[in-house]
Amino acid sequence: MSVGCPARGCYAVRVSKTATNIATPRDLPKLDALLGAAPFAALIASSGRDLVTEETRLALDALRREIRDGNHVFLSELAPDALAVRVQRRLERMLGPIQCRVINATGVILHTSLGRAPLPPSAVEAAAREAAGYSCLELDRGSGKRSDRDKLVNALIERVTGAEAATVVNNNAAATMIILNSLADGAEVVCSRAHMVEIGGSYRMPDVMRKAGCKLVEVGCTNKTKARDFEDAITEHTAMLLKVHTSNYAIVGFTEEPSLEELVEIGRRRNIPVVYDLGAGSLVDLKPYGITREPSVPDLVATGADLVCFSGDKLLGGPQAGIIVGRTGLVQRIKKNALFRMMRCDKFTLSLLEHTLKLYLDASTVTRSVPTLAAIARPAEQVAKLARSIAGRLAKRGITATLANSTSQIGGGSTPGEELPTTVLVIDKLGGSPDAAAKRLRMGTPSVFCRIENDALVFDPRTLLPGQDAELVNAIAAAKQA
Ligand SMILES: *Cc1c(COP(=O)(O)O)cnc(C)c1O
Repeated sequence: MSVGCPARGCYAVRVSKTATNIATPRDLPKLDALLGAAPFAALIASSGRDLVTEETRLALDALRREIRDGNHVFLSELAPDALAVRVQRRLERMLGPIQCRVINATGVILHTSLGRAPLPPSAVEAAAREAAGYSCLELDRGSGKRSDRDKLVNALIERVTGAEAATVVNNNAAATMIILNSLADGAEVVCSRAHMVEIGGSYRMPDVMRKAGCKLVEVGCTNKTKARDFEDAITEHTAMLLKVHTSNYAIVGFTEEPSLEELVEIGRRRNIPVVYDLGAGSLVDLKPYGITREPSVPDLVATGADLVCFSGDKLLGGPQAGIIVGRTGLVQRIKKNALFRMMRCDKFTLSLLEHTLKLYLDASTVTRSVPTLAAIARPAEQVAKLARSIAGRLAKRGITATLANSTSQIGGGSTPGEELPTTVLVIDKLGGSPDAAAKRLRMGTPSVFCRIENDALVFDPRTLLPGQDAELVNAIAAAKQA
Protein backbone atom coordinates (compact mmCIF):
# COMPACT_ATOMS: atom_id res chain seq x y z
CA MET A 1 0.00 0.00 0.00
CA SER A 2 1.18 3.55 -0.73
CA VAL A 3 0.46 6.77 1.05
CA GLY A 4 0.83 10.33 -0.16
CA CYS A 5 3.43 12.47 1.56
CA PRO A 6 2.77 15.96 0.21
CA ALA A 7 4.75 17.66 2.91
CA ARG A 8 7.95 16.25 1.50
CA GLY A 9 6.85 16.82 -2.10
CA CYS A 10 6.84 13.16 -2.94
CA TYR A 11 4.22 10.49 -3.18
CA ALA A 12 4.16 6.73 -3.30
CA VAL A 13 6.25 6.20 -0.26
CA ARG A 14 5.86 2.58 0.68
CA VAL A 15 4.93 1.62 4.16
CA SER A 16 4.86 -2.14 3.74
CA LYS A 17 8.00 -3.69 5.18
CA THR A 18 8.19 -6.66 2.85
CA ALA A 19 7.00 -5.35 -0.50
CA THR A 20 8.88 -2.07 -0.84
CA ASN A 21 10.30 -2.95 -4.26
CA ILE A 22 7.07 -4.34 -5.78
CA ALA A 23 5.22 -2.01 -8.17
CA THR A 24 1.54 -1.02 -8.02
CA PRO A 25 -0.43 0.30 -11.02
CA ARG A 26 0.19 3.82 -9.73
CA ASP A 27 3.92 3.34 -10.17
CA LEU A 28 3.56 2.97 -13.94
CA PRO A 29 5.07 6.06 -15.60
CA LYS A 30 2.98 8.30 -17.84
CA LEU A 31 3.43 7.60 -21.55
CA ASP A 32 4.37 11.17 -22.50
CA ALA A 33 6.90 11.53 -19.71
CA LEU A 34 8.47 8.25 -20.66
CA LEU A 35 8.80 9.13 -24.34
CA GLY A 36 10.62 12.29 -23.34
CA ALA A 37 13.19 10.33 -21.31
CA ALA A 38 16.69 10.02 -22.76
CA PRO A 39 16.74 6.24 -23.45
CA PHE A 40 13.66 6.63 -25.65
CA ALA A 41 15.22 9.30 -27.88
CA ALA A 42 17.45 6.68 -29.49
CA LEU A 43 14.51 4.33 -30.11
CA ILE A 44 12.50 7.14 -31.70
CA ALA A 45 15.45 8.11 -33.88
CA SER A 46 15.81 4.56 -35.23
CA SER A 47 12.20 3.31 -35.40
CA GLY A 48 10.07 6.45 -35.63
CA ARG A 49 7.87 8.19 -33.07
CA ASP A 50 4.55 6.54 -34.05
CA LEU A 51 5.80 3.00 -33.76
CA VAL A 52 7.73 3.65 -30.52
CA THR A 53 4.69 5.39 -28.98
CA GLU A 54 2.41 2.49 -29.84
CA GLU A 55 4.83 -0.19 -28.65
CA THR A 56 5.50 1.73 -25.40
CA ARG A 57 1.76 2.04 -24.78
CA LEU A 58 1.33 -1.70 -25.37
CA ALA A 59 4.29 -2.49 -23.09
CA LEU A 60 2.78 -0.36 -20.29
CA ASP A 61 -0.62 -2.02 -20.83
CA ALA A 62 0.99 -5.44 -20.53
CA LEU A 63 2.77 -4.45 -17.31
CA ARG A 64 -0.49 -3.04 -15.91
CA ARG A 65 -2.17 -6.40 -16.58
CA GLU A 66 0.74 -8.23 -14.91
CA ILE A 67 0.38 -6.12 -11.79
CA ARG A 68 -3.42 -6.47 -11.74
CA ASP A 69 -3.11 -10.24 -12.13
CA GLY A 70 -0.99 -10.29 -9.00
CA ASN A 71 2.31 -11.04 -10.73
CA HIS A 72 5.19 -9.24 -9.07
CA VAL A 73 6.65 -6.43 -11.14
CA PHE A 74 9.65 -4.81 -9.50
CA LEU A 75 9.91 -1.05 -9.36
CA SER A 76 13.30 -1.33 -11.05
CA GLU A 77 11.52 -2.76 -14.12
CA LEU A 78 9.64 0.53 -14.48
CA ALA A 79 12.76 2.69 -14.69
CA PRO A 80 13.10 4.40 -18.11
CA ASP A 81 16.23 2.40 -18.98
CA ALA A 82 14.53 -0.92 -18.22
CA LEU A 83 11.37 0.06 -20.08
CA ALA A 84 13.40 1.18 -23.09
CA VAL A 85 15.00 -2.28 -23.25
CA ARG A 86 11.54 -3.85 -23.03
CA VAL A 87 10.23 -1.65 -25.88
CA GLN A 88 13.37 -2.32 -27.90
CA ARG A 89 12.68 -6.09 -27.66
CA ARG A 90 9.10 -5.53 -28.78
CA LEU A 91 10.35 -3.50 -31.76
CA GLU A 92 12.81 -6.22 -32.70
CA ARG A 93 10.04 -8.82 -32.62
CA MET A 94 7.83 -6.55 -34.73
CA LEU A 95 10.45 -5.48 -37.27
CA GLY A 96 12.66 -8.57 -37.44
CA PRO A 97 12.08 -10.95 -40.36
CA ILE A 98 9.18 -13.32 -39.73
CA GLN A 99 10.45 -15.87 -42.24
CA CYS A 100 14.04 -15.71 -41.08
CA ARG A 101 16.86 -16.98 -43.27
CA VAL A 102 17.64 -20.64 -42.61
CA ILE A 103 20.69 -22.78 -43.29
CA ASN A 104 19.27 -26.21 -44.05
CA ALA A 105 21.76 -28.82 -42.82
CA THR A 106 19.05 -31.49 -42.41
CA GLY A 107 19.89 -33.29 -45.66
CA VAL A 108 16.24 -33.08 -46.71
CA ILE A 109 16.41 -31.27 -50.04
CA LEU A 110 12.73 -30.31 -50.37
CA HIS A 111 11.79 -29.63 -46.76
CA THR A 112 8.15 -28.51 -46.78
CA SER A 113 8.51 -26.81 -43.37
CA LEU A 114 11.62 -24.95 -44.58
CA GLY A 115 9.92 -23.61 -47.70
CA ARG A 116 10.56 -26.48 -50.18
CA ALA A 117 12.67 -25.43 -53.19
CA PRO A 118 15.29 -22.70 -52.68
CA LEU A 119 14.84 -20.56 -55.78
CA PRO A 120 17.53 -19.96 -58.40
CA PRO A 121 19.12 -16.59 -57.46
CA SER A 122 19.06 -15.38 -61.08
CA ALA A 123 15.30 -16.04 -61.25
CA VAL A 124 14.72 -14.15 -58.00
CA GLU A 125 16.72 -11.15 -59.25
CA ALA A 126 14.90 -11.02 -62.57
CA ALA A 127 11.47 -11.44 -60.97
CA ALA A 128 12.21 -8.80 -58.32
CA ARG A 129 13.10 -6.29 -61.06
CA GLU A 130 9.82 -6.96 -62.87
CA ALA A 131 7.65 -7.02 -59.75
CA ALA A 132 8.99 -3.72 -58.43
CA GLY A 133 7.46 -1.90 -61.37
CA TYR A 134 4.71 -2.29 -63.92
CA SER A 135 4.94 -5.22 -66.30
CA CYS A 136 3.03 -6.42 -69.35
CA LEU A 137 1.26 -9.08 -67.31
CA GLU A 138 -1.97 -9.12 -69.29
CA LEU A 139 -1.17 -6.91 -72.26
CA ASP A 140 0.20 -7.97 -75.61
CA ARG A 141 2.90 -5.43 -76.45
CA GLY A 142 2.52 -5.85 -80.20
CA SER A 143 -1.21 -5.33 -80.49
CA GLY A 144 -1.69 -3.30 -77.31
CA LYS A 145 -4.63 -5.59 -76.56
CA ARG A 146 -5.58 -7.52 -73.46
CA SER A 147 -3.99 -10.97 -73.24
CA ASP A 148 -3.79 -13.97 -70.94
CA ARG A 149 -1.45 -13.71 -67.96
CA ASP A 150 -0.34 -17.31 -68.15
CA LYS A 151 0.46 -17.25 -71.86
CA LEU A 152 3.79 -15.73 -70.83
CA VAL A 153 4.98 -19.00 -69.36
CA ASN A 154 2.83 -21.46 -71.26
CA ALA A 155 5.03 -21.49 -74.33
CA LEU A 156 8.02 -22.24 -72.12
CA ILE A 157 6.20 -25.02 -70.28
CA GLU A 158 5.16 -26.53 -73.59
CA ARG A 159 8.76 -26.39 -74.78
CA VAL A 160 10.32 -28.05 -71.70
CA THR A 161 7.60 -30.72 -71.32
CA GLY A 162 6.72 -31.42 -74.96
CA ALA A 163 3.03 -30.87 -74.19
CA GLU A 164 0.48 -29.45 -76.62
CA ALA A 165 -0.91 -26.92 -74.11
CA ALA A 166 -0.30 -25.74 -70.56
CA THR A 167 -1.64 -23.56 -67.81
CA VAL A 168 -0.67 -22.64 -64.26
CA VAL A 169 -2.57 -22.31 -60.98
CA ASN A 170 -1.49 -21.63 -57.39
CA ASN A 171 -0.32 -25.10 -56.40
CA ASN A 172 -0.72 -28.70 -57.43
CA ALA A 173 -3.57 -29.31 -54.98
CA ALA A 174 -5.49 -26.57 -56.80
CA ALA A 175 -4.46 -28.08 -60.15
CA THR A 176 -5.95 -31.45 -59.15
CA MET A 177 -9.13 -29.80 -57.90
CA ILE A 178 -9.72 -27.73 -61.02
CA ILE A 179 -8.97 -30.64 -63.37
CA LEU A 180 -11.49 -32.85 -61.56
CA ASN A 181 -14.11 -30.13 -61.45
CA SER A 182 -13.64 -29.03 -65.07
CA LEU A 183 -13.73 -32.51 -66.57
CA ALA A 184 -15.88 -34.56 -64.22
CA ASP A 185 -18.30 -32.38 -62.21
CA GLY A 186 -21.35 -34.59 -61.56
CA ALA A 187 -19.69 -37.56 -63.23
CA GLU A 188 -17.64 -40.61 -62.28
CA VAL A 189 -13.87 -40.71 -61.88
CA VAL A 190 -12.21 -44.13 -61.83
CA CYS A 191 -9.16 -44.41 -59.57
CA SER A 192 -7.23 -47.27 -57.96
CA ARG A 193 -7.61 -48.05 -54.23
CA ALA A 194 -3.82 -47.81 -54.07
CA HIS A 195 -4.04 -44.12 -54.99
CA MET A 196 -6.27 -42.79 -52.21
CA VAL A 197 -3.48 -40.51 -51.03
CA GLU A 198 -3.33 -37.99 -48.24
CA ILE A 199 -0.81 -35.25 -49.00
CA GLY A 200 -0.96 -33.48 -45.66
CA GLY A 201 -3.21 -30.95 -44.01
CA SER A 202 -6.66 -32.12 -44.92
CA TYR A 203 -5.91 -32.94 -48.54
CA ARG A 204 -7.25 -36.46 -49.06
CA MET A 205 -8.07 -37.67 -52.52
CA PRO A 206 -11.61 -38.96 -51.74
CA ASP A 207 -12.48 -35.61 -50.07
CA VAL A 208 -11.01 -33.61 -52.93
CA MET A 209 -13.16 -35.63 -55.37
CA ARG A 210 -16.29 -34.88 -53.35
CA LYS A 211 -15.48 -31.17 -53.18
CA ALA A 212 -14.88 -31.15 -56.93
CA GLY A 213 -18.35 -32.62 -57.47
CA CYS A 214 -17.04 -35.95 -58.72
CA LYS A 215 -18.23 -39.41 -57.87
CA LEU A 216 -15.23 -41.54 -57.00
CA VAL A 217 -15.28 -45.06 -58.36
CA GLU A 218 -12.57 -47.00 -56.53
CA VAL A 219 -11.19 -50.06 -58.27
CA GLY A 220 -8.72 -52.83 -57.43
CA CYS A 221 -7.10 -53.40 -54.05
CA THR A 222 -4.48 -51.56 -52.05
CA ASN A 223 -1.67 -53.73 -53.39
CA LYS A 224 -3.04 -54.83 -56.77
CA THR A 225 -5.02 -53.04 -59.44
CA LYS A 226 -5.19 -54.32 -63.01
CA ALA A 227 -5.92 -52.47 -66.24
CA ARG A 228 -9.04 -54.67 -66.49
CA ASP A 229 -10.35 -53.19 -63.23
CA PHE A 230 -10.37 -49.74 -64.84
CA GLU A 231 -11.96 -51.02 -68.02
CA ASP A 232 -14.69 -52.93 -66.15
CA ALA A 233 -15.61 -49.85 -64.08
CA ILE A 234 -16.33 -47.66 -67.10
CA THR A 235 -19.99 -46.68 -67.51
CA GLU A 236 -21.81 -44.03 -69.53
CA HIS A 237 -21.18 -41.67 -66.57
CA THR A 238 -17.41 -42.09 -66.53
CA ALA A 239 -15.62 -38.80 -67.27
CA MET A 240 -12.03 -39.55 -66.28
CA LEU A 241 -9.50 -42.25 -65.51
CA LEU A 242 -7.19 -40.89 -62.79
CA LYS A 243 -3.75 -42.08 -61.80
CA VAL A 244 -2.06 -40.51 -58.79
CA HIS A 245 1.67 -40.75 -58.22
CA THR A 246 2.26 -42.25 -54.79
CA SER A 247 4.78 -39.53 -54.03
CA ASN A 248 4.92 -39.85 -50.26
CA TYR A 249 4.53 -43.61 -49.78
CA ALA A 250 5.48 -46.81 -51.54
CA ILE A 251 3.48 -49.99 -51.83
CA VAL A 252 5.99 -52.83 -52.04
CA GLY A 253 5.80 -56.61 -52.19
CA PHE A 254 2.98 -58.42 -54.02
CA THR A 255 1.90 -55.47 -56.09
CA GLU A 256 0.60 -54.53 -59.50
CA GLU A 257 -0.76 -51.39 -61.07
CA PRO A 258 -1.54 -50.54 -64.66
CA SER A 259 1.07 -48.46 -66.43
CA LEU A 260 0.11 -45.05 -67.73
CA GLU A 261 0.43 -46.47 -71.27
CA GLU A 262 -2.18 -49.13 -70.51
CA LEU A 263 -4.59 -46.53 -69.13
CA VAL A 264 -3.98 -44.27 -72.13
CA GLU A 265 -4.79 -47.18 -74.43
CA ILE A 266 -8.10 -47.82 -72.61
CA GLY A 267 -8.90 -44.10 -72.53
CA ARG A 268 -8.32 -43.78 -76.28
CA ARG A 269 -10.47 -46.77 -77.08
CA ARG A 270 -13.34 -45.69 -74.81
CA ASN A 271 -12.92 -41.95 -75.46
CA ILE A 272 -12.30 -41.02 -71.81
CA PRO A 273 -9.54 -38.60 -70.73
CA VAL A 274 -6.67 -40.06 -68.71
CA VAL A 275 -5.21 -37.73 -66.06
CA TYR A 276 -2.04 -38.20 -64.05
CA ASP A 277 -1.54 -36.28 -60.79
CA LEU A 278 2.21 -36.51 -60.67
CA GLY A 279 2.99 -34.44 -57.59
CA ALA A 280 6.73 -33.79 -57.63
CA GLY A 281 7.21 -33.45 -61.38
CA SER A 282 10.84 -33.46 -62.46
CA LEU A 283 11.51 -31.99 -65.88
CA VAL A 284 14.75 -33.95 -66.18
CA ASP A 285 15.52 -37.64 -65.92
CA LEU A 286 16.82 -38.24 -62.38
CA LYS A 287 17.92 -41.86 -62.97
CA PRO A 288 21.60 -40.87 -63.44
CA TYR A 289 21.50 -39.65 -59.81
CA GLY A 290 19.97 -42.85 -58.46
CA ILE A 291 16.36 -41.63 -58.31
CA THR A 292 14.37 -44.26 -60.18
CA ARG A 293 10.83 -43.82 -58.92
CA GLU A 294 10.27 -40.28 -60.24
CA PRO A 295 9.16 -40.37 -63.86
CA SER A 296 10.02 -37.19 -65.75
CA VAL A 297 7.22 -34.99 -67.06
CA PRO A 298 8.39 -35.16 -70.70
CA ASP A 299 8.35 -38.99 -70.54
CA LEU A 300 4.80 -38.99 -69.16
CA VAL A 301 3.61 -36.46 -71.72
CA ALA A 302 5.09 -38.68 -74.40
CA THR A 303 2.83 -41.59 -73.32
CA GLY A 304 -0.13 -39.57 -74.59
CA ALA A 305 -1.74 -38.92 -71.19
CA ASP A 306 -4.46 -36.30 -71.71
CA LEU A 307 -3.45 -34.18 -68.71
CA VAL A 308 -0.55 -34.28 -66.25
CA CYS A 309 -0.27 -31.94 -63.26
CA PHE A 310 2.66 -31.29 -60.91
CA SER A 311 4.07 -28.81 -58.38
CA GLY A 312 6.33 -25.86 -59.23
CA ASP A 313 8.22 -25.98 -55.92
CA LYS A 314 9.10 -29.65 -55.69
CA LEU A 315 11.58 -31.26 -58.09
CA LEU A 316 11.19 -28.46 -60.64
CA GLY A 317 12.90 -26.19 -58.09
CA GLY A 318 10.78 -23.08 -58.69
CA PRO A 319 8.01 -21.14 -56.95
CA GLN A 320 4.85 -22.65 -55.47
CA ALA A 321 2.58 -23.35 -58.43
CA GLY A 322 0.48 -26.09 -59.95
CA ILE A 323 1.36 -26.78 -63.56
CA ILE A 324 -1.14 -28.48 -65.85
CA VAL A 325 -0.01 -29.81 -69.23
CA GLY A 326 -1.81 -31.77 -71.92
CA ARG A 327 -4.38 -31.51 -74.67
CA THR A 328 -5.42 -28.07 -75.86
CA GLY A 329 -9.17 -28.71 -75.65
CA LEU A 330 -8.99 -29.92 -72.05
CA VAL A 331 -6.71 -27.05 -70.98
CA GLN A 332 -9.23 -24.64 -72.55
CA ARG A 333 -12.04 -26.18 -70.48
CA ILE A 334 -9.98 -25.66 -67.32
CA LYS A 335 -9.29 -22.04 -68.18
CA LYS A 336 -13.00 -21.36 -68.72
CA ASN A 337 -13.91 -22.76 -65.29
CA ALA A 338 -14.95 -20.03 -62.78
CA LEU A 339 -12.57 -21.62 -60.27
CA PHE A 340 -9.65 -20.66 -62.51
CA ARG A 341 -9.95 -17.00 -61.51
CA MET A 342 -9.73 -18.00 -57.85
CA MET A 343 -6.65 -20.12 -58.37
CA ARG A 344 -4.65 -17.95 -60.74
CA CYS A 345 -1.03 -17.08 -59.95
CA ASP A 346 0.18 -13.58 -59.20
CA LYS A 347 2.73 -11.76 -61.36
CA PHE A 348 5.62 -12.54 -59.04
CA THR A 349 5.02 -16.29 -59.17
CA LEU A 350 4.67 -16.17 -62.95
CA SER A 351 7.96 -14.28 -63.32
CA LEU A 352 9.76 -16.64 -60.97
CA LEU A 353 8.40 -19.59 -62.90
CA GLU A 354 9.35 -18.04 -66.25
CA HIS A 355 12.94 -17.40 -65.19
CA THR A 356 13.28 -20.81 -63.53
CA LEU A 357 11.95 -22.58 -66.64
CA LYS A 358 14.37 -20.65 -68.87
CA LEU A 359 17.23 -22.28 -66.96
CA TYR A 360 15.94 -25.63 -68.24
CA LEU A 361 16.48 -24.54 -71.85
CA ASP A 362 20.19 -25.23 -71.37
CA ALA A 363 20.36 -28.89 -70.37
CA SER A 364 24.12 -28.73 -69.86
CA THR A 365 23.92 -26.20 -67.01
CA VAL A 366 20.51 -26.81 -65.40
CA THR A 367 21.87 -29.20 -62.75
CA ARG A 368 24.05 -26.35 -61.55
CA SER A 369 21.73 -23.37 -62.04
CA VAL A 370 18.64 -24.81 -60.29
CA PRO A 371 19.59 -25.32 -56.61
CA THR A 372 17.21 -28.26 -56.05
CA LEU A 373 18.74 -30.15 -58.98
CA ALA A 374 22.25 -29.11 -57.91
CA ALA A 375 21.69 -30.68 -54.47
CA ILE A 376 20.44 -33.90 -56.08
CA ALA A 377 23.18 -34.02 -58.69
CA ARG A 378 26.10 -33.20 -56.33
CA PRO A 379 28.36 -36.25 -56.40
CA ALA A 380 28.87 -38.03 -53.07
CA GLU A 381 32.67 -37.42 -53.25
CA GLN A 382 32.05 -33.69 -53.52
CA VAL A 383 29.81 -33.72 -50.43
CA ALA A 384 32.45 -35.77 -48.55
CA LYS A 385 35.13 -33.25 -49.50
CA LEU A 386 33.00 -30.38 -48.22
CA ALA A 387 32.30 -32.28 -44.98
CA ARG A 388 36.06 -32.81 -44.44
CA SER A 389 36.73 -29.14 -45.08
CA ILE A 390 34.04 -28.03 -42.61
CA ALA A 391 35.33 -30.47 -39.97
CA GLY A 392 38.83 -29.00 -40.40
CA ARG A 393 37.57 -25.45 -39.93
CA LEU A 394 35.51 -26.48 -36.87
CA ALA A 395 38.59 -28.13 -35.34
CA LYS A 396 40.39 -24.77 -35.53
CA ARG A 397 37.51 -23.31 -33.47
CA GLY A 398 37.89 -26.07 -30.84
CA ILE A 399 34.92 -28.15 -32.01
CA THR A 400 35.24 -31.86 -32.75
CA ALA A 401 33.11 -33.16 -35.60
CA THR A 402 33.42 -36.74 -36.78
CA LEU A 403 32.45 -37.79 -40.30
CA ALA A 404 29.98 -40.57 -41.01
CA ASN A 405 28.33 -42.10 -44.06
CA SER A 406 24.63 -41.37 -44.20
CA THR A 407 21.84 -40.58 -46.63
CA SER A 408 20.15 -37.38 -47.81
CA GLN A 409 16.50 -37.34 -48.75
CA ILE A 410 14.60 -35.62 -51.53
CA GLY A 411 11.70 -34.90 -49.13
CA GLY A 412 8.65 -32.77 -49.85
CA GLY A 413 6.67 -35.95 -50.15
CA SER A 414 8.74 -37.14 -53.08
CA THR A 415 10.58 -40.39 -53.70
CA PRO A 416 10.12 -42.28 -50.43
CA GLY A 417 12.74 -44.93 -49.95
CA GLU A 418 15.01 -43.32 -52.51
CA GLU A 419 17.97 -41.73 -50.85
CA LEU A 420 21.24 -40.18 -51.91
CA PRO A 421 24.55 -41.22 -50.33
CA THR A 422 26.16 -38.46 -48.30
CA THR A 423 28.77 -37.72 -45.64
CA VAL A 424 27.54 -36.02 -42.48
CA LEU A 425 29.29 -34.19 -39.65
CA VAL A 426 28.45 -35.58 -36.21
CA ILE A 427 28.94 -33.32 -33.19
CA ASP A 428 28.15 -34.77 -29.78
CA LYS A 429 29.53 -31.98 -27.63
CA LEU A 430 28.36 -28.42 -28.14
CA GLY A 431 27.37 -27.75 -24.52
CA GLY A 432 24.17 -28.87 -22.79
CA SER A 433 21.77 -31.44 -24.21
CA PRO A 434 21.54 -32.01 -27.98
CA ASP A 435 18.02 -30.55 -27.90
CA ALA A 436 19.28 -27.40 -26.17
CA ALA A 437 22.19 -27.07 -28.63
CA ALA A 438 19.84 -27.59 -31.60
CA LYS A 439 17.59 -24.86 -30.23
CA ARG A 440 20.53 -22.44 -29.89
CA LEU A 441 21.38 -23.17 -33.54
CA ARG A 442 17.77 -22.61 -34.64
CA MET A 443 17.54 -19.35 -32.71
CA GLY A 444 20.83 -17.96 -34.10
CA THR A 445 21.22 -15.59 -37.05
CA PRO A 446 21.15 -17.16 -39.56
CA SER A 447 19.02 -19.93 -38.12
CA VAL A 448 20.54 -23.41 -38.56
CA PHE A 449 18.49 -26.61 -38.79
CA CYS A 450 20.21 -29.98 -38.40
CA ARG A 451 19.18 -33.49 -37.38
CA ILE A 452 19.53 -35.13 -33.96
CA GLU A 453 20.51 -38.80 -34.11
CA ASN A 454 21.76 -40.98 -31.24
CA ASP A 455 22.06 -37.96 -28.96
CA ALA A 456 24.32 -36.11 -31.38
CA LEU A 457 23.86 -33.20 -33.78
CA VAL A 458 24.10 -34.30 -37.41
CA PHE A 459 24.85 -31.83 -40.24
CA ASP A 460 24.47 -32.86 -43.90
CA PRO A 461 26.45 -30.57 -46.23
CA ARG A 462 24.47 -31.77 -49.28
CA THR A 463 21.69 -29.25 -48.60
CA LEU A 464 24.02 -26.27 -48.05
CA LEU A 465 23.75 -23.59 -50.70
CA PRO A 466 26.91 -22.04 -52.18
CA GLY A 467 28.81 -20.05 -49.53
CA GLN A 468 26.82 -21.38 -46.59
CA ASP A 469 29.65 -23.64 -45.37
CA ALA A 470 31.47 -20.64 -43.87
CA GLU A 471 28.27 -19.39 -42.26
CA LEU A 472 27.61 -22.85 -40.85
CA VAL A 473 31.07 -22.98 -39.24
CA ASN A 474 30.47 -19.56 -37.63
CA ALA A 475 26.98 -20.51 -36.47
CA ILE A 476 28.18 -23.74 -34.85
CA ALA A 477 31.03 -21.89 -33.14
CA ALA A 478 28.57 -19.25 -31.89
CA ALA A 479 26.26 -21.95 -30.50
CA LYS A 480 29.06 -23.66 -28.58
CA GLN A 481 28.86 -23.39 -24.79
CA ALA A 482 31.57 -24.21 -22.30
C1 LIG B 1 2.58 -32.69 -53.40
C2 LIG B 1 1.44 -33.33 -54.10
C3 LIG B 1 0.23 -32.64 -54.28
C4 LIG B 1 0.04 -31.26 -53.76
O1 LIG B 1 0.89 -30.36 -54.38
P1 LIG B 1 1.10 -28.87 -53.79
O2 LIG B 1 1.89 -28.18 -54.84
O3 LIG B 1 1.78 -29.05 -52.49
O4 LIG B 1 -0.25 -28.29 -53.62
C5 LIG B 1 -0.80 -33.27 -54.95
N1 LIG B 1 -0.66 -34.53 -55.42
C6 LIG B 1 0.50 -35.24 -55.25
C7 LIG B 1 0.59 -36.63 -55.79
C8 LIG B 1 1.57 -34.66 -54.59
O5 LIG B 1 2.72 -35.33 -54.42
